[in-house]
Amino acid sequence: MSAVIVVHGGAWAIPDELAQASVDGVKSAACQGFSVLKGGGSALDAVEAAVRMMEDNTVFNAGHGATLNNNGDVELDAIIMDGKTLACGAVSSVKNIANPVSLARAVMDKTSHVMLTGSGANQFAESMGVETVPTDALVTEYERKEWEKHKTYVNGVMEDFNAQWAHDTVGAVALDCTGNVACATSTGGIRNKKIGRVGDSPVIGSGGYADNFSGAVSCTGHGESILKVTLARLIVSHIEQGKSVSDASQLSLQYMGERVHGAGGSIVVSPSGQWAATFTTERMAWAAAQQDELWYGLEPSQRNKEHFSQ
Ligand code: ASP
Repeated sequence: MSAVIVVHGGAWAIPDELAQASVDGVKSAACQGFSVLKGGGSALDAVEAAVRMMEDNTVFNAGHGATLNNNGDVELDAIIMDGKTLACGAVSSVKNIANPVSLARAVMDKTSHVMLTGSGANQFAESMGVETVPTDALVTEYERKEWEKHKTYVNGVMEDFNAQWAHDTVGAVALDCTGNVACATSTGGIRNKKIGRVGDSPVIGSGGYADNFSGAVSCTGHGESILKVTLARLIVSHIEQGKSVSDASQLSLQYMGERVHGAGGSIVVSPSGQWAATFTTERMAWAAAQQDELWYGLEPSQRNKEHFSQ
């Protein structure tokens, strides 16, 4: 079985000043996740490692660098799912946690629940000894400035969605050498969201899904649109009906655009090692590592390849 990992750094109109750092960030995360797979690690461990790395990278809207809600606070959502057992864990609206994906993993591994939210999730983090960080430690100067700039005229994406507001969520999907797939997604959501707003990212079947019988998916884009069409599960349904991972992604994103006028992106890996990175926004930074090849891109038709040795 040829192990593979695919990661994304969010589908939106990524400005030129963030383009190179976004591409560098996804390439590093793909390499990080792939080194776990090469060492015989599980798909679950690989997606967690890759997403943690992007949560720590301030160019992305997850963990450090997260967008701010309309109160100027950070509220984070994350999901992780194991395609072997369909076990999953998620957290929503958590504060002061640098790596929400690992908290989601703890929900999956250490509780009989699927999702914990808000203060309950934070209390659980404390009981697990998960490290907390001061509120402001997750806020970058870049985000504070962007928030100040936009808060005066944005009434909220609910009323007036524009793809540029969907901002840099991160995600990973992987297939390990024993044939198991997994997905993980982590985000700060959308800038200026209402306090307590939860998007697609932590919702099973919307922001992510993983099933060894069909494949693993991580989504990004306008959360309310993704929720309405349950994008991750929609992609998996197309795969179950015999579509390739690439066709399944394209058909589903096209449907989301036509049906609810939402833009976004997805990464997918199948149990046989087929993978796709697809988006309907202007840009999405993505990277994929398989055998000795590292693929990556940012623009719609871009597919660069480098050889690398681990
Ligand atoms: N889907 C995320 C959300 O709506 C945002 C994103 O992917 O950029 O919370």
